[in-house]
Amino acid sequence: MAMATAPVHHITPTVAKVRSRTLSQSFIASPPRYLRSSPPKLSLSSAKIVVSASAASAAVELEKKTTDSSKSKSLPFRVGHGFDLHRLEPGYPLIIGGINIPHDRGCEAHSDGDVLLHCVVDAILGALGLPDIGQIFPDTDPKWKGAASSVFIKEAVKLMHESGYELGNLDATLILQRPKLSPHKEAIRANLCELLGADPAVVNLKAKTHEKVDSLGENRSIAAHTVVLLMKK
Ligand SMILES: [Zn+2]
Repeated sequence: MAMATAPVHHITPTVAKVRSRTLSQSFIASPPRYLRSSPPKLSLSSAKIVVSASAASAAVELEKKTTDSSKSKSLPFRVGHGFDLHRLEPGYPLIIGGINIPHDRGCEAHSDGDVLLHCVVDAILGALGLPDIGQIFPDTDPKWKGAASSVFIKEAVKLMHESGYELGNLDATLILQRPKLSPHKEAIRANLCELLGADPAVVNLKAKTHEKVDSLGENRSIAAHTVVLLMKK
């Protein structure tokens, strides 16, 4: 997948205005549904139909017919935020971004407890207007029970593409007191890029301590925040 080389979406002010109007009316007309089986079919040319106030309602009706569920997915850009936190306990491996990091403790979790991948999945799902990772991939479903977190990333990326979006860029911050992540950051980022099918130029990873305060600062937990920007393909 050529994430970084994808063409920039050029939107004229007129079209942007038309899109904005029809979308805002659509939100009012019908709330988004979470799950869908096919991507929205509203094209730029159909959006251009709306050129006057009198035609706006007709266009909304047209859009309702062509995008019978989540209208929100017709947005040219979508932002998503993810947050995750895991308790650190002795006797568990510390897996961050699919990389095993040497440490005296790791995440206690049903899965591999990969705080970064969980957080990135939630950011992508959030951008798509979907529920969180626990609801989309419940561990009560045999399909997901005990699955490696890389599986969830690949599923989230698949949902993103099926919805007609690609990754614009991603910015993640890991919060942990120990161990130092600088020796592992590039390996984590490279693996994350591979899982996302993204160019490293659009995937950023930062790490910071929690100044020795609270569970994060006392080496009892690890947390991550992620923001993603998705772009309509
Ligand atoms: Zn998690």
